[in-house]
Amino acid sequence: MTLNELVRPNILKLTPYTCARNEYTGEARAWLDANENSRIDGLNRYPDPLQTEVKRRLSEIKGVDASRIFLGVGSDECIDLCYRVFCRPGIDNVVAIDPTYGMYAVCAEINDVEYRPVKLNPDFSIDEEALFSAVDANTKVMWICSPNNPTGNAYPLEQLERIASRFEGITVVDEAYVDFSEQGSMLRHLDKYPRLVVMQTFSKAWASAAMRLGTAYAAKDIIDIFNNVKYPYNINILTQREAIKVLADHRHVADVADELVKARDVLAESLAGLDCVVKVYPSDANFLLVRVTDADSLYGRLKDAGVIVRNRSRVTLCEGCLRITVGNEDENNLLIEKIREYGI
Ligand SMILES: *Cc1c(COP(=O)(O)O)cnc(C)c1O
Repeated sequence: MTLNELVRPNILKLTPYTCARNEYTGEARAWLDANENSRIDGLNRYPDPLQTEVKRRLSEIKGVDASRIFLGVGSDECIDLCYRVFCRPGIDNVVAIDPTYGMYAVCAEINDVEYRPVKLNPDFSIDEEALFSAVDANTKVMWICSPNNPTGNAYPLEQLERIASRFEGITVVDEAYVDFSEQGSMLRHLDKYPRLVVMQTFSKAWASAAMRLGTAYAAKDIIDIFNNVKYPYNINILTQREAIKVLADHRHVADVADELVKARDVLAESLAGLDCVVKVYPSDANFLLVRVTDADSLYGRLKDAGVIVRNRSRVTLCEGCLRITVGNEDENNLLIEKIREYGI
């Protein structure tokens, strides 16, 4: 399918909101176009609607042209935009691996788009035949999260490429946890797949969840449409300034991610030695999926002790499982201590 066939007709013919800041870049002598209050300095000016400086720096770090970068209020905005841009409510559908990140299904429901979950194999690998059996002529988006939340595993890049080339709609690869994986990123293949969207976020390895900044990388024609549909000033100036600071420090971020991966592997080993732990699944992310003898009771006991984990025991293929984020040293020690006190 061509992009024109994939995009909703109303979005294709949309006349986007324009502001003078889209038309003029540079230092004006007087900004009298936006009804701002110029008598008080501080946060009185609207931010750059296209976040030029943030994208320039991100472009250097990621090796992706700035015209192929979209910035959203977290990945959540990027996810929602995929529905609003591509899926006709009540008509189109999306296909996703199951289990996976919950926001894909929530946004589908909000946008009145049918959500088709396709169960993973018991080892959390993708059943490609089942995935493509769920596809029909109205399937616009396929959601693949790699490394996957909550299962923790990454999918081989060859498999992601195979899916992206076979699927005629928009393949989204959500790489929120990519910095913790040895698998590498699909960004290197962006040029090859004109309908591929790769999502990353500042919320995990970049340690900036409070900033609310997510990234979508795609062909320029897709990014242009996202920019037409988003709120004009979606990324506020405080976030843009902070992002520029965080990006200046990107080597440090990579080092911290490496440390987290080491801590994850240590934590996995400690957990595996505990009586109530049945299985610690391998992880390419900054969390561990852990099967225990009685997930509800352990979850409750940890909560009473002030240690909050995620109870995933009612999620497909995750019966009896808790999802545990790798914390700092004190947090990890406290977790182990409390599970040890709990016993079997
Ligand atoms: C945490 C997470 C995100 C991040 O969402 P933000 O809105 O950027 O904070 C995205 N995708 C997955 C799979 C996640 O687990």
